[in-house]
Parts: sequence; structure tokens; C-alpha cells
Amino acid sequence: MLEPPLTAYALKPTPLTQPFWDAARERRLVVQHCRTCSKKFFRPEIACPHCRARDWEWVESTGKGTLYSFAVMHRAPSPAFKAPFIFAAIEMDEGWVLFSNLIGLEIEEAEIGMEVEVCFHAVSDELTVPLFRPARR
Ligand SMILES: [Zn+2]
Repeated sequence: MLEPPLTAYALKPTPLTQPFWDAARERRLVVQHCRTCSKKFFRPEIACPHCRARDWEWVESTGKGTLYSFAVMHRAPSPAFKAPFIFAAIEMDEGWVLFSNLIGLEIEEAEIGMEVEVCFHAVSDELTVPLFRPARR
């Protein structure tokens, strides 16, 4: 059964990403929503990648999506990770995509198109990361 692979504080929030990490610590997944073109986007950007507008806000996501693609990482990219783990592209039901890890299943159970949902892993007091597991819906 795959567990959260990140074992150490390896991410540094920036002023732009701080609201994302603050929400994750409260076990909420948030995403940037453009007020000009109404699209959501991730990763965090100063301007909307669809229309370049800077009029955006953080909004809460349902945390539900499907597994768009994945790769099984057999070698940890740094000592902060525990291999093997699944690096996953998640297509959210709200039409945006993020990269995360898929946990709570065996590697051979991962299947493109499977329904997944967000869960949270506290790496340290400061850092909680959103991860994904098979959906219970
Ligand atoms: Zn836009």
C-alpha cells in the first residue's frame, strides 16, 4: 500500500503560494480562479495563463477528480522522498489539472481514468501537502 512519499520539509512557500499552503494546513484544497475568463489554473501564477489577466482569486476545490496520467517512480529524486511512489497528473472535476502523488492503493491498482479525491499529509508543523487516493464515492 503506497504511503505519502514526502518525508521531510522540502517545499518552500513563496508570497504567491502561501495561501495554497495555508489552506492545505487547514485540509482545504484551493485553486486560482480568473475573474476575467472564469477559468481555474494551477500551478500558482501571477497572471492567468489563459488570458493574462491579473484579476484572480483563490477558491476552494471539491478535491474530486480523475487520474489523467501517472508514472511510478522507483528511485527517489531526493532524500526527502521515499520510493517507490506514484507521480500523478490529476484532472479535477472543475477543469484544472495538478500534479501530486497517488497513495492508499497498490501500484498495480493505479489506472488512468480512475476516480480520485484529495487527502492531506502533514509533513511537518509548517507543511501539509495535498495528495490523492482512490475516491470513496
Ligand atoms: Zn483568465
